[in-house]
Amino acid sequence: MRIAVVGAGPSGLYAADALSSSGADVDVLDRLPVPFGLVRYGVAPDHHSIRSVRDTLQKVLEKPGVRLLAGVEVGRDVSVEELLAAYDAVVLTYGASRDRHLDVPGEDLAGSVAATDLVAWYCGHPDADRETIESALAAARSVVVVGVGNVAVDVTRVLTAPMARLEQTDMPQHVLDALAASHITDVHVLGRRGPAQATWTTKELKELAELDGVDVLIDPTDLELEPVSAALVESDRVVARNVEVIRSWADHVSDTTHRHIHLHFHARPAEMLGTDRVETVVVERTTIDDAGAAHGTGETYEIPADLVVRSVGYRGVALDGVPFDGRRNVIPNVEGRVMDADGVPVPGLYVAGWIKRGPTGIIGTNKKDAAATVAALLEDLEARGATGGPGIEPLLRDRGVDAVAFDGWTAIDAAERALGASRGRDRTTIHDRDALVTAARAGA
Ligand SMILES: Cc1cc2nc3c(=O)[nH]c(=O)nc-3n(C[C@H](O)[C@H](O)[C@H](O)COP(=O)(O)OP(=O)(O)OC[C@H]3O[C@@H](n4cnc5c(N)ncnc54)[C@H](O)[C@@H]3O)c2cc1C
Repeated sequence: MRIAVVGAGPSGLYAADALSSSGADVDVLDRLPVPFGLVRYGVAPDHHSIRSVRDTLQKVLEKPGVRLLAGVEVGRDVSVEELLAAYDAVVLTYGASRDRHLDVPGEDLAGSVAATDLVAWYCGHPDADRETIESALAAARSVVVVGVGNVAVDVTRVLTAPMARLEQTDMPQHVLDALAASHITDVHVLGRRGPAQATWTTKELKELAELDGVDVLIDPTDLELEPVSAALVESDRVVARNVEVIRSWADHVSDTTHRHIHLHFHARPAEMLGTDRVETVVVERTTIDDAGAAHGTGETYEIPADLVVRSVGYRGVALDGVPFDGRRNVIPNVEGRVMDADGVPVPGLYVAGWIKRGPTGIIGTNKKDAAATVAALLEDLEARGATGGPGIEPLLRDRGVDAVAFDGWTAIDAAERALGASRGRDRTTIHDRDALVTAARAGA
């Protein structure tokens, strides 16, 4: 059996692990010259233990029969059709890396950025738009973060955390320099519904108030729970804990020497105002109906903002030649088998991870999910019979695409550790694509 996996994030590597344990040869392709997907370019750099899942994922790349072909973009360097011709089966695990839009006037003003872009920047993603983010950050004193999920918490923490904490991370030096120079005093976090409906997890939420030199402030009237929220607190332990944590902050007093995080609930952005760049966010108060949906009340207030971070979710995009559900932004599938418009499985094509089920769950969720897809694939291949296939290396050679293999990645890894050591840190992420490829070639 010879299988191609498209995407070297957690779901791709969990799929490769399950496939190789069943005796398959697996080529893992990624458009970036490095593996690990959002574990490298999403998980917050100051969450060391979560990021260390890389060590487990790396073991998959060390398995005999698993080959990394990094720096190969499917849809540009090679098509899905060509992959299907060159392998017994193809597993698409290319994630969901674009931002969702708020659809409010002024959203595209300078100074209004997507959390996806800010996260990519502070993690050192080669495609990050440094100029946009760094100029927005340089101008920022008062920030509005739209959204109350874990990514919004990550962004809020990174923008307010003391440098002593951030300097322990692998953030690129230019990121640390920009954060050290920042004049941010206030971060306003907006939740469309109440504290009971926020999707952050308690551990991440609590961390906000544990940051040195940071006060978390909340308007106590936001803590009055309507019946639907009270019922949620009764029935869901995580919700109950979250609300309890937020309640414990109601008597916080602001210290003027500190940075402030203001939590606003029942608050949705109605408009962003500004001439050349964002200056103000107009917020509309909302109420929650019995089904838990938010409705605008028409009552508004304004928050001064020189930086707005829109953190309302990630979404997947279509890949040429692959069916796509544009409403849910996922690849339509049944148990990981990709389905065409008539609901018929596309022979040899499978999907796992965020592009299969949308951007939900924790890293470990992708393991079970990938295993289910691999089980369907193996069942089909057993019925159909596997023939191996030539793989795509001859084709890549013809096209002059020089993939980074595992030894190239270990060379990048060593270069990042050496760069970190030169600054007294464990590692510093190399953010520039050419520098990554040069490090890979030098060591390979
Ligand atoms: C900001 C953020 C913070 C998070 N923090 C946590 C956390 O603390 N704890 C936790 O458990 N989970 C966290 N998650 C969730 C976790 O990162 C995801 O569950 C997981 O990464 C999804 O895995 P995936 O493999 O489906 O997608 P990804 O990790 O996105 O991997 C997809 C891979 O496909 C590659 N790719 C894309 N297009 C192509 C193409 N055309 N050709 C070839 N390759 C391609 C990408 O480069 C990428 O490497 C976080 C997510 C985000 C966004």
